[in-house]
Amino acid sequence: MNVLVSGGAGYVGSHAARMLSRAGHEVWAYDNLVFGHRGAVAPGRLIEGDLLDKAKVVATLREHQIDAVMHFAAFAYVGESVTDPAKYYHNNIVGTLSLMDAMREAGVWRIVFSSTCATYGEPESVPIRETQAQNPINPYGYTKLVIERALSDFAKAYGWGYAALRYFNAAGASTDGDLGEDHDPETHLIPLVLQVALGQREHITIFGDKLPTPDGTCIRDYIHVDDLASAHISALEKLGRGTEFRCNLGTGQGTSVKEVIDACRAITGRPIPAVVAPPRAGDPPALIADAGLARRELGWVPRYTSITPIVETAWKWHESHPDGYAD
Ligand code: UDP
Repeated sequence: MNVLVSGGAGYVGSHAARMLSRAGHEVWAYDNLVFGHRGAVAPGRLIEGDLLDKAKVVATLREHQIDAVMHFAAFAYVGESVTDPAKYYHNNIVGTLSLMDAMREAGVWRIVFSSTCATYGEPESVPIRETQAQNPINPYGYTKLVIERALSDFAKAYGWGYAALRYFNAAGASTDGDLGEDHDPETHLIPLVLQVALGQREHITIFGDKLPTPDGTCIRDYIHVDDLASAHISALEKLGRGTEFRCNLGTGQGTSVKEVIDACRAITGRPIPAVVAPPRAGDPPALIADAGLARRELGWVPRYTSITPIVETAWKWHESHPDGYAD
C-alpha cells in the first residue's frame, strides 16, 4: 500500500514508518517538524507540511496515490494540555478533522489512529479492558476520545475503516540504535532516568512513594516502540470498508517507577540518584492494559515483555545520541 504517516518524524511515527517500509509498503512521512526530527525520516521521504493546510494534504494524498493514513501527529504533553487546552483542541482535534476532510476529498478511507489509555481517565479496575468507560481527566485524553468518536461516525456514514490504538507507555528505541526518543522538553520517565545516567541531570524525581502499590510508586505498562509499530501494521492490514477496531496496546505487565530506576541502574552501571517528591496531580497509581484483544484480533505478539530489554534499547540510543537527533 501507499501509506502517508502523519507525524512520521516523531517518536512512534518514525519507528512505524520504517517498519512499514521494511514490510514492503511505499511510505511518506508528513510532518511540520514542530516536534519531529528530519533525521528520523528516510532520505527523500519527508513531506514538510501542516495538517491544517488541507489543500497541501489533499495534493499529497493525490500525488502519491495514498491508500491509507497512519495518523500520529499530535501534541502529547498531558500537563500542558491542562494549562493550555486551546493548543490541544486546535492541534489534535481541528488538525485531525482537517486531515479527515482532506482524506474524504481525496477518496482515502483507511486510517490507523494513535489513541491513548488516557481516554479511560481513572480506571474502574486494572487491568483495563477496552469495554471500560472512557472518561478522560485531562484535555489531552479528551481530544483523543473526540477523534475516536469522529472516526466511528465516519465509518458508519462514509464506510471508512479505522483502528484506534490506545497506547499505554511507549518506550525503548529501535534495536539498531538509529531511531530513538528525543522530546524537548523531555517529561517521560525512562529518558529522564537515562539523562541522569549520562550526567545531564543531577537526579530523577520520583513522583510519590506512598501510593497504594506494592513499593509505593506508580505502576505503568511500558510497551516497546517497535511492538507498537508492528501492531499498527497488523491493524492496517485488517481494515476493510466499515471496519471499526479499537484496542489497547500494552504488554499487560506493570512496572513501578522504582523498578524502572533499578533496571536503568543495572543496565547503565551508573548510580542514578533519586529524590522523592509528592505525586503528580492526576497520575493514577496503576495503569496496566488488558492486552488480550490485540493478541486475539491482530495475532499480535509483543517481542518485549519485560522492562530490561526495553531499557537496553533506550540506553543504546541515549548513549550513542546524548544530544538526541541534534537538529
Ligand atoms: N514519573 C516520575 N518522575 C518523573 C517522570 C515520571 O516518577 O520525572 C512517573 C510518573 O508519575 C508515572 C511514570 O513515571 O507514574 C511514567 O510517567 P511518564 O511521564 O513517562 O508517562 P505517563 O504515564 O505520565 O504517560
